[in-house]
Amino acid sequence: MRNKHTLLLRNILNDPCELECAALILKNGGLVVFPTETVYGLGANAFDEDAAASIFKAKGRPGDNPLIVHILSIKDLSTVAKNIPSSALQLFETFSPGPFTIVLAKNKAVPAIVTAGLDTVAVRIPSHPIARLLLEKSGLPIAAPSANRSGRPSPTTFDMAVMEMKGRVDAIIDGGSCEVGLESTVVSIPDEQIKILRPGAVTEEMIRVVLGSKNPLIQEASGSHAKPSSPGMKYAHYQPKAPVYLAEHWKNVKVNKLFGDRKIGVIHLSFDIPPSENREQISFSSLADYAKNLYKTLVDLDQMGVEIIIAQAVEEKGIGRAIMNRLEKASGGKTV
Ligand code: AMP
Ligand code: MG
Repeated sequence: MRNKHTLLLRNILNDPCELECAALILKNGGLVVFPTETVYGLGANAFDEDAAASIFKAKGRPGDNPLIVHILSIKDLSTVAKNIPSSALQLFETFSPGPFTIVLAKNKAVPAIVTAGLDTVAVRIPSHPIARLLLEKSGLPIAAPSANRSGRPSPTTFDMAVMEMKGRVDAIIDGGSCEVGLESTVVSIPDEQIKILRPGAVTEEMIRVVLGSKNPLIQEASGSHAKPSSPGMKYAHYQPKAPVYLAEHWKNVKVNKLFGDRKIGVIHLSFDIPPSENREQISFSSLADYAKNLYKTLVDLDQMGVEIIIAQAVEEKGIGRAIMNRLEKASGGKTV
C-alpha cells in the first residue's frame, strides 16, 4: 500500500491554514500522523468506523490489537468511556495531560473496530501542544496507535514518521523530536486493582505514590508464557532490520567469537569498549536520554548498515522498566 498523496505540514504552530487542513482531513475520515510527547501517532476520528479501519490497513496492524483513543481533557471522558472508577479519575488528575493511558469500560459511541471488539477502551489525554491543537480544532476524539508499520520501532522524529508513513496517510505533521521517546504507560483497573499493562514514563513508583496503600498494584507478567491482558503485548514489536541482542556487560572476547568481523552497532550507557573498525557506538548520557533516543538509534544503525545491534540492559527501575520492556521485545530475548 503506497498510493496516497501525503501532505507534509511543517509549520502548524504558526500557520492556521495547516491546522485547519489537518482538522478537516480528520473530520472527513482521513489519516493524520501527528507528534505527541511519547511517539508520533497515526490518527483518525475515533467515532468513524471506516477511518479506524484505514489505520489498521496503513499500519498492517492485526485487527485484534485495539487502539488508544486520545481526548482533550478529563471532562471529555464520558464521550468515549463509562462507569469511570474514582481511582481512574485520581490517576488522570495526577498524570494527565501526559504519557498515561487507562483502560475503561467503553461507551457505545466508540465503534467495535477501535477496541478490537473488547468492551473496554484505552484512553489518553496527551500534553503535546500540537496533539492538543488537533484535538481542539477537530473537536473529535482521535484514535491513534504509534505511526510505525506493525512490528517496527515507533517514530520519534518527523523524518522517521515520513519514512514509515509517506504514501500511506493523508498528512504528516512536523513536531520535531518527541520528548519521552517511548509509548505511554497503559493501566487497567479490573476490580479496583490497578494493573500495569505496559510500562512507560509514568512509572510504577510514581503510581504507587498516588495510590498510597489503598489499592494493590500489579505488574503485568511478561515472557512468552504469560497471557497478556493487553492484546498488543503478544506481538513482535519495536524491531529494526538488524537482530538485537541484550548485554548486561561488554564481553569483547565473546562478541568477537560470536560475530567475527560483522559490522556491529552498540548502544549503551556505560560500556567500556575497545575501539574497532567494524563497530558503531552510540552512548547515552542518562536513562531519560536512552528512552528518548532508543527507537531513532535502532533505525539510524540500520541505515548505517550494521548487521548486529547490541544494547546495554539497564536496571528495571523507574523508566528503566519501560526501556527493558521495549528492548526485550526488540531482541526477542536474545542475549550476549
Ligand atoms: P500503540 O497503539 O502502539 O500505542 O499500542 C496500544 C497498546 O494499548 C497496545 O498494547 C494495546 O493492546 C493496548 N490497548 C489498547 N486498548 C486496549 C484495551 N481496551 N484493553 C487492553 N489493552 C489495550
Ligand atoms: Mg505501537
